[in-house]
Amino acid sequence: MNERDIIQLFTGRNAGGESGLIYGIGDDCAVIAKDAGCSWLVTMDTLVEAVHFDLGWHPAGKLGRKAVSVNVSDIAAMGGAPRFIFLSLGLPKGFDPAWVRAFSEGVTDGCREYGCLLAGGDTVLSRGGVMITITVIGEAGADKVVYRNGARLGDDVWVSGELGSAAAGLALCGNGLVPEHPALQPLVEAHLDPRPRLGLGRMLAGSGLVHAMMDLSDGLATDLSHLCGQSGAGALIHSEWLPCSPLLGEASALLQRDKVDLMIRGGEDYELVFTAAPGSASIIQTIANQAGAVVSRVGVIDDKPGVRLVRSGSQGRRREVDVSFGGFDHFPEA
Ligand code: ADP
Ligand code: MG
Repeated sequence: MNERDIIQLFTGRNAGGESGLIYGIGDDCAVIAKDAGCSWLVTMDTLVEAVHFDLGWHPAGKLGRKAVSVNVSDIAAMGGAPRFIFLSLGLPKGFDPAWVRAFSEGVTDGCREYGCLLAGGDTVLSRGGVMITITVIGEAGADKVVYRNGARLGDDVWVSGELGSAAAGLALCGNGLVPEHPALQPLVEAHLDPRPRLGLGRMLAGSGLVHAMMDLSDGLATDLSHLCGQSGAGALIHSEWLPCSPLLGEASALLQRDKVDLMIRGGEDYELVFTAAPGSASIIQTIANQAGAVVSRVGVIDDKPGVRLVRSGSQGRRREVDVSFGGFDHFPEA
């Protein structure tokens, strides 16, 4: 039973009716009717010590901000604005008060930056490590919410920013390579302190040009598979079109990890993946410029199953490999 199988157990169990739930399990946020013009967006993400972070290299303040950022990223993915957050904190006995103080400052910084208010939470003893769960309530124009399920045949597949930086940064930390390679610090920062694409998500959703959108938390290979699966389509992506930091080549050589592998399977990019008709390409570029973001066309939506990656090999030979759901899974099957 993998992560998707577990979530599937909880899916489709709600009775129908006039509950106000517009969309439940399956997208980046649940969508709940607020009033005629506006919907609530609600999302929850958890960070667990030794799974998502290591206290040995993750400064408390950056961890506090990251806990907010990764949740806000799901609001960005649907084109919304965050309004309120709730924080549940599990701490081991004998925690360091200075650590908690710095963590709380990071949470406050995140809230200030993204324009939301900490409205409640819970504080408990953890018999394991530190556990952080945040719920964000956001809002969006009722007709502006962008779901994962709207991709159309022939759409371009776009991503924002650069892929693979956070995965490389995490691996550099894990391998103890950071002190010897200070020039690679921007990759480490991408892991420690990701910034969600809030402005870009809202502007793309507001344009009405984007058919499907989600954020990249588990790697493009998995997240685009979700988007395609829900849209009843497939996608072909091109390795040469994938955007990455100029530092990724050096990092991948040091880590002895394939660069493209880091870009599509690494996870924690917190960038946006979205689809739009090819005719919208120049307007999409203009919107991205206005939002201060870079976007890259990485592939096309088609009617074949799954997500396939085209790689060029030696002598210009092209190889197509199925990479569907090849990203991060908390419970991968052996
Ligand atoms: P994301 O990566 O965007 O945070 P997830 O992969 O964590 O999304 O979750 C996918 C969907 O499954 C979301 O709609 C989420 O609310 C739902 N989900 C995940 N775990 C559970 C659970 N234990 N019970 C109910 N819904 C869940
Ligand atoms: Mg998401």
